[in-house]
Amino acid sequence: MAYRITPNLMFPIGNFRNITSGFGEMNVYDNKLWGKHLGIDIAAPNETKIFSIGRGVVVYSKLHQGEFSENGEVLKRNWGGIVIIAHKDPQSKKVFYSVYGHLGKRYVKRGDAVEMGGLIGVIGKSMSESNGIWEEEHLHFGIYIGPFHGKVLPGYFKEGSNVITDPEFWKEPISFIKNYNPRNVHI
Ligand SMILES: [Zn+2]
Repeated sequence: MAYRITPNLMFPIGNFRNITSGFGEMNVYDNKLWGKHLGIDIAAPNETKIFSIGRGVVVYSKLHQGEFSENGEVLKRNWGGIVIIAHKDPQSKKVFYSVYGHLGKRYVKRGDAVEMGGLIGVIGKSMSESNGIWEEEHLHFGIYIGPFHGKVLPGYFKEGSNVITDPEFWKEPISFIKNYNPRNVHI
C-alpha cells in the first residue's frame, strides 16, 4: 500500500469540547476493569459527522458488532463501526495511524485515499450494534504510531491480556495534533 504524505492535521469532529474519557484513564465498565484507555472519547450525538484528520489512506474499515441477549442484556461491548487511516509524517518520514470508533455509518473502505476534512462516517446510535452497544453516543479517537498488520487495533491496554499492542505506541491525540501544526512543510 502506498502511503501519502500528510502535511497538516485537524480535529476529527466539529464540536471538540466534551471529552468524557481521557487518554490513559483506567476505565471500569460493567464492574470490569478494561484497562488503560488508548484514545479519547468525545461526546457526539447520533449522526454527527466525522472527518479524516489528514490526508491519508484507509487501511481498515469494518463493523465489529456488539451483542445483546434476547432479554436485552449487554453481552459484548465492541467497536461498532471502526475506521483506521494511515498517514505519513513528511518530516520524520514515519507512518502513523488515526483510529475512529463507534461509527454508525462508514463512507470509506480499505484502500481509499482521503483528504484532510474528508467525511469518513457518522456517529452511531446509542445501544446499537453499530455503536458497539454503548449508552453514550461518542467518538473514540486514537493516534497509533506502532506497526500495523491489517488487524483491528485495541481501545484499551490491560496488563496480561491478549491485546498485544504496546501502550507506548499510543499518543495523546489532542497534543499530537496541536504539535503537528503548523509546519510550513514543503513537499
Ligand atoms: Zn474510548
